[in-house]
Amino acid sequence: ARFEDAGLHPIMLRNVQLCKYDVPTPIQAYVLPSVLKNIDIIGIAQTGSGKTAAFLIPTLSKLMGKAKKLAAPRPNLTRPWTRADAVRAEPLILVISPTRELSTQIFDEARRLCYRSMLRPCVIYGGAPAQEQMDELRKGCDVLIATPGRLMDFMQRAHLLSLNRVKYTIIDEADEMVSPDWVDAMRQIMGGDSNDDDDHVYMMFSATFPREARAVAKEYMAKDHIRIRV
Ligand code: AMP
Repeated sequence: ARFEDAGLHPIMLRNVQLCKYDVPTPIQAYVLPSVLKNIDIIGIAQTGSGKTAAFLIPTLSKLMGKAKKLAAPRPNLTRPWTRADAVRAEPLILVISPTRELSTQIFDEARRLCYRSMLRPCVIYGGAPAQEQMDELRKGCDVLIATPGRLMDFMQRAHLLSLNRVKYTIIDEADEMVSPDWVDAMRQIMGGDSNDDDDHVYMMFSATFPREARAVAKEYMAKDHIRIRV
């Protein structure tokens, strides 16, 4: 498999090359074509397998093709942003990950893959002041990478964040989020987006696939989802 033949948006293909990703890793080779066909995916893969790029490359690439129509509202300014210019964040891609470290890594990769596109990624996590993260969100946010607690907190502020436009929901390291509190948070988050939308694509990545993660998957994923183990 080659990135050149995957039907990626030209901006994405260039960014993949800038990242020096020459050939897709096995998980990428499986996930890319499935996401491009809007199929839900459970990926059983370890860190280091290239799973982050596996879900970011195809989802971002699809949105790049529709960026003009779909891109989240954002202030279009020729002067520095001030809080008076704030817009509500309405991300199209939502990535949930268990820790600040992981979220930040995903954000860094998203930033590289969004380079010179219309798409703007943001990251939010707990254990840090909320104001700075809010200001970033309110500059416009197409891709939101979040830990569950901070996301639940921000979801309660409707003027700040809406998940109604989310088209791709990705749960990373699902096996780290199996305590009852986390599963409960996950349900509220998944239920809070437009999951009645047939087009909505869910992906779940996990090193193992414990019972609790299977339960969440069963509830939210399409019956014809595919399972990939690398
Ligand atoms: P991950 O499994 O997502 O944590 O990725 C592990 C590392 O592999 C990251 O540093 C990525 O930048 C890198 N990586 C992802 N995809 C590729 C690829 N196709 N070729 C080379 N390196 C990659």
